[in-house]
Amino acid sequence: MLDKRQFYINGTWCDPIAGQSLEVINPSTEEPCAVISLGGAADTDLAVAAAKAALPGWMHSDPRERLALVERILEIYKSRAEDMSQAMSQEMGAPIDLARASQFGAGTWHIANFIKAFEQIEFIAPLGDHAPEDRIIREAVGVCALITPWNWPMNQVTLKVIPALLAGCTMILKPSEIAPLSSIVWTEIMDEAGTPNGVYNMVNGDGPGVGTQLSGHKDVDMVSFTGSTRAGIAISKNAAETLKRVHLELGGKGANLVFADADEKAIKRSVAHCFQNSGQSCNAPTRMLVERSIYEQTVDEVRELAEATSVGPAHESGKHIGPVVSQMQFDKIQDLIQKGMDEGARLVAGGLGRPEGLNRGYFVRPTVFADVTNDMTIAREEIFGPVLSILPFETEEDAVRIANDTVYGLTNYVQSQDGARRNRLARKLRAGMIEMNGKSRGAGSPFGGMKQSGNGREGGVWGIEDFLEVKAVAGWANDAE
Ligand code: NAD
Repeated sequence: MLDKRQFYINGTWCDPIAGQSLEVINPSTEEPCAVISLGGAADTDLAVAAAKAALPGWMHSDPRERLALVERILEIYKSRAEDMSQAMSQEMGAPIDLARASQFGAGTWHIANFIKAFEQIEFIAPLGDHAPEDRIIREAVGVCALITPWNWPMNQVTLKVIPALLAGCTMILKPSEIAPLSSIVWTEIMDEAGTPNGVYNMVNGDGPGVGTQLSGHKDVDMVSFTGSTRAGIAISKNAAETLKRVHLELGGKGANLVFADADEKAIKRSVAHCFQNSGQSCNAPTRMLVERSIYEQTVDEVRELAEATSVGPAHESGKHIGPVVSQMQFDKIQDLIQKGMDEGARLVAGGLGRPEGLNRGYFVRPTVFADVTNDMTIAREEIFGPVLSILPFETEEDAVRIANDTVYGLTNYVQSQDGARRNRLARKLRAGMIEMNGKSRGAGSPFGGMKQSGNGREGGVWGIEDFLEVKAVAGWANDAE
């Protein structure tokens, strides 16, 4: 079993001061594959002190120096592709092909896009011709706590660490204690790239421990958090005492509006997206809203697609879906499937228990409910498993009302070949992102939500700006540097 109990503080791997051991469980086998430490207040304080000491030098460094560091990180990240993919596959159960292509690939994509977006950031800019001695300076927010979840580990780590570095912030990364191994590989990359001491620190820990210590710490200026809405609320409350900036990327309950004129691949694409990563994506299209005239035929098509979705261990190559991450998630999903049946939804595929032939590992049957109403628990709560709910709608207005009737507002989807309708819906749906006809958002597009899905935007220029303060200066000398 791998021993990964050390933390990375002030440019050095060090033993925990107050650490408690925790086993990392491989969800395909239910066996431990590594041991880490959950840090305590003394470890958190040390990491925050290192980040605070490094801040003045890093925030006033030449932006080109920061860019050069990120370019080195990208090269080393690419050279560690296989280690990183294996780590993610083992810790959170992504099938190895998905881990290599999407889980690892998300990191490369984000780092490269930040490098491009950085060209657009003006650290000192004029206010306008009417005020020639005014300048707007953008400077680092300060010491940042970066708290990440387990479902897309490198996607989230790169979306936080890279813009924080480019902005001139110093940081403490606390990855998910359930999937910490990829962040340990990541930290090796940061070390090899020559990140100056104290600029980047990593402490493992859980929410009640290091997570809470960071969000309440007097020397932390900002928390950037991705995870559950529950933890987002706890962090916001705890951070309020010190009035630090809190950036939140939380859960979702994406509606996917399927109209009778949807293209022929729309249903296949939608089901695959919902089940991808075993349904463990905040932006998964989990509520399929289907126009009445094609409702029954769509339910049949979805059932066939769900029944054809294979499930298997993460280390095997192929297009199957893997297990869900933990016993806790497995139990929660089983409870919600039971609730779906109890509350009167029609189970058309999957259901309780493991798929046939899989007796060990947190494997869930790809499950589909039809005749779901929007007040049912399975339509309201984020399930975070391979469970799709189908709801009929009568009119476009009806569809918008159902789609927007949720506390979440992360991503909504539309399937229709009517361009005027798509543009109308893009305006009316209340979510941070609207993706239509299977088009993915382009490089540098901001990722983030409305309502209880959060308040931050990650990726591209917006992602860097979230780590910057705006300073207004009057009396600037135009004849000096
Ligand atoms: P989680 O909230 O349980 O944990 C996320 C991280 O927060 C972990 O590092 C955890 O240790 C820490 N944490 C937990 N409680 C905390 C507290 N009180 N104070 C400080 N830190 C705390 O979430 P999870 O189960 O790891 O991830 C799944 C959730 O993440 C889902 O709800 C999903 O929708 C959401 N998510 C959102 C996005 C997005 O960008 N909107 C992306 C991915 C995942």
